[in-house]
Amino acid sequence: MTRLNIVFIASEASPLAKTGGLADVVGSLPHALKKLGHQVTVILPFYRQHLAKAGVKVSPMHVNVELWADGVQRHCPLHKTKVNGLNFILVEQDDLFARDELYGPPGSAYEDNLLRYMIFDRVALEAASKLTKKVNIIHCHDWQTGMIPLLLKTQYQHDPKIAKAKSLFTIHNLAYQGNFPADWLHRLAIPSHHFHSGGFEFHGQINCMKAGIESADVITTVSPSYAKEILTPEYGCDLEGFLAVHSKKLSGIVNGLHVDEWNPTSDTKIQANFGPENPVGKRKCKQALQTLCGFKVAKDIPLLTLISRLAEQKGIDLMIANIESWIKRGYQLAVLGSGDLHYERTLQQLSQKHPEQFYFHCGFDESLARKIYAGGDIFLMPSRFEPCGLGQLMGMRYGSVPVVRATGGLKDTVTDYNTCKTRATGIHFNKATPEAFDAALETTISLYRIPRTWSRIRSNALKRDSSWDASASSYLELYEALISQ
Ligand code: ADP
Repeated sequence: MTRLNIVFIASEASPLAKTGGLADVVGSLPHALKKLGHQVTVILPFYRQHLAKAGVKVSPMHVNVELWADGVQRHCPLHKTKVNGLNFILVEQDDLFARDELYGPPGSAYEDNLLRYMIFDRVALEAASKLTKKVNIIHCHDWQTGMIPLLLKTQYQHDPKIAKAKSLFTIHNLAYQGNFPADWLHRLAIPSHHFHSGGFEFHGQINCMKAGIESADVITTVSPSYAKEILTPEYGCDLEGFLAVHSKKLSGIVNGLHVDEWNPTSDTKIQANFGPENPVGKRKCKQALQTLCGFKVAKDIPLLTLISRLAEQKGIDLMIANIESWIKRGYQLAVLGSGDLHYERTLQQLSQKHPEQFYFHCGFDESLARKIYAGGDIFLMPSRFEPCGLGQLMGMRYGSVPVVRATGGLKDTVTDYNTCKTRATGIHFNKATPEAFDAALETTISLYRIPRTWSRIRSNALKRDSSWDASASSYLELYEALISQ
């Protein structure tokens, strides 16, 4: 076996900086690849506030990358850190990355995001070239790093260290494509001969996702179902035709979890530990969550949970339409999330109206998320589309039975009770309507009322192998096929 030198370039990675599942993947897949005997370095922007909050200490590498961008000469110092044995290189540029949010205030985006991530991409490639030995694979993630495969094939085609590196571009969510006005082309010296409809032009704008799709040697997305769905008009976000042209190099590999970090048998943030062999602690976690939410503490009241970005994608409106009726039926509901202001406001109002049965925490709080995954009976994920989804994996790992819309990775990772009663780990529904969601929840509640059936479903969920083992091997097969070309 050849030991590969793999460089991940991404805009977020847990535990350094996280807004969603991308961070979970970039913070955990490298560990699984290392376990398989390969060398992995992760390059990220130096988000000063977020690193401080995460308590991550960094040290300067005493290396600067110099570049011109938008008429300004920039000096970009590199830093390094090691977290849980994984090496990170961080690109410092405080005017661009030392901000409160990663991509912009809730519900919007920073106007200079193209400038921020173009500079990051160029410096990351310089860092890969200067600081690691010969690179075999450059693995990029989402639109923020979509220009990297293009730069590799154009401006870096003679670089002694990285010209021969193969690029893999993973689409974590096709809905976020990174579209920007075309006047940035010259300001940022983006290779303009690829600015046409077969390249990264999209309705007269620069589209970073298209750049990655066109230029990467291989494209993956985060579940086999989503890989098929994005070739259709319903899920293709207007790129289905373009993706079809490149479909030979597209495949889907389902995400895993860092199962040591997300482990109910050892998690120190939850009230009591538990696992498939010893589910007793789960009861204590439910009591603790009911107390935290100000609910009546009772073991037979169904406790529903949802942890999510509050965005249309996530089907939050499908839940909101049902809340009053679920409350009338006596259920309890704990929701953690932030995002679109109109959802935040509506959830806030509902929680003020029904404090004894509906708890809403507006914000991003991983410690609370763990308590909710551990304390809930049922985890709701009514997404309109879901490339993979990490929430349902965490829910199952912590014994919360997921009720999910049968789409993308939700379909691939949750085994539906209606199709396989003995191996079920959750319940699916098809139509993105409040009625279909409610009907699935009612089926779930009737199963919850039959203790033997419920404990089998919950035990299947707790035992599900959500580790990276199988998927890391699939990535490795792709890497190896690429370098043997
Ligand atoms: P996304 O589309 O947002 O990436 P995923 O399900 O793939 O959705 O991943 C979401 C990740 O973010 C999970 O780790 C989930 O626990 C976490 N998460 C989402 N919202 C919150 C929140 N408000 N507080 C803490 N963690 C959250």
